[in-house]
Amino acid sequence: MRAVLDHIGIAVGDLQKATAFYLDALGLEVEPPEEVPSQKVRAHFIPVGRSALELLEPTSPDSTIAKFVEKRGPGVHHVTLRVENIQAALDQLKARGVRLIDEAPRPGAEGALVAFIHPAAAHGVLVELKQKPEHTEIRPLRTSLGGFQLISVNDGALKLDGGAMFGTVPRVMWEKRIPADDRHRIGLSSRPLVVEADWGRMLIDCGCGDKMAPKQADIYGIEGSGRLDRSLEAAGLGLDAFDVVLASHLHFDHFGGATMRTGSGALVPRFPKAEYVIRAAEWEDATHPHERNRASYIADDFVPLKAAGVASFYENDQEIRPGVRVVRTGGHTGQHTVIYVESGGRTAVFTADLIPTTAHIDDPWIMGYDLFPMETLNFKRRFIREAIDREYLIFFEHDPLVPAGYIREKDGRRFVEPLRG
Ligand SMILES: [Zn+2]
Repeated sequence: MRAVLDHIGIAVGDLQKATAFYLDALGLEVEPPEEVPSQKVRAHFIPVGRSALELLEPTSPDSTIAKFVEKRGPGVHHVTLRVENIQAALDQLKARGVRLIDEAPRPGAEGALVAFIHPAAAHGVLVELKQKPEHTEIRPLRTSLGGFQLISVNDGALKLDGGAMFGTVPRVMWEKRIPADDRHRIGLSSRPLVVEADWGRMLIDCGCGDKMAPKQADIYGIEGSGRLDRSLEAAGLGLDAFDVVLASHLHFDHFGGATMRTGSGALVPRFPKAEYVIRAAEWEDATHPHERNRASYIADDFVPLKAAGVASFYENDQEIRPGVRVVRTGGHTGQHTVIYVESGGRTAVFTADLIPTTAHIDDPWIMGYDLFPMETLNFKRRFIREAIDREYLIFFEHDPLVPAGYIREKDGRRFVEPLRG
């Protein structure tokens, strides 16, 4: 079990006096408070380096914090250790006979899983274990756009090096938006998009798939198999429900799910009735990789499609189906493509690796992976302006938590208003 200090919880009697000390005297900064109705407290987090202090203010006289303060006065209430797998940690403690308050993890603030160890076992300290939200929420997000139904599905967690995901942006800045784990990776998702129209059903990108060798899968934090299949199933869709699969580009985290291995080891298209639509020049790049992009293109993801006769290629930007238009951005790869979905006067855009997460909505927050970052910058600058002004619904393929939303701007600061399911 590798545990990291997450925060120290401090029960507070008089919040004003407490903030006068921590904020004014110590000069620390407090985050906006978070109500935790189940505990009848208001939590005020004060980041201190990679950990935090949590001032706990009771919101009712019968809250456990109010009782704690009444009995023992204000002071340290609990210590929270962050672990990667809380269930495994609890199992390990149980096996050693450690007395637990919670035998199983339960939901805590901000989607985390938490469990308490009994103070008697921890030498008089109430110890909370916490697992950050695993980004494996595969529940589909459904919305309508004009005459289309759009469903954001999820192929599950993917972990990539935080530094590589943010290029020249210093870690002290990006880790405030997405924190890194102890292997310097940030938690991401792979979220393909389903478009349902009167002409049929399309899948845009198809996640990492499940063909990767265990060593690679561990490096990229890809767990288990059939993740996308389960997410589609949750949306009521089988693999044979798709007529078209469209690629933004052919990197393994976008098109690895295009093929799968049968019981006998053969590689076959995952979507048996689909035509796979790929930009011809991207196919050319993917099948002729160089030292800089060799790790990103895995031939087994796409070569079998051509052999099966289900790949179709296009040359220039165009409408692939009525209302679904591909636009080359370049930048990330020479032929990287975003997909405009337009119906009933509204526009949604699947931005793939142009704006992989909501943390990338500022123009210069560009991935280190990009082959042509200046091309990314030029396209992105123009595109985001357009997206704000015309209120495009943006689908963030790699965001760990927010599948889609609107980019807004207020007083020169950008933020994303998430689309609610
Ligand atoms: Zn990607």
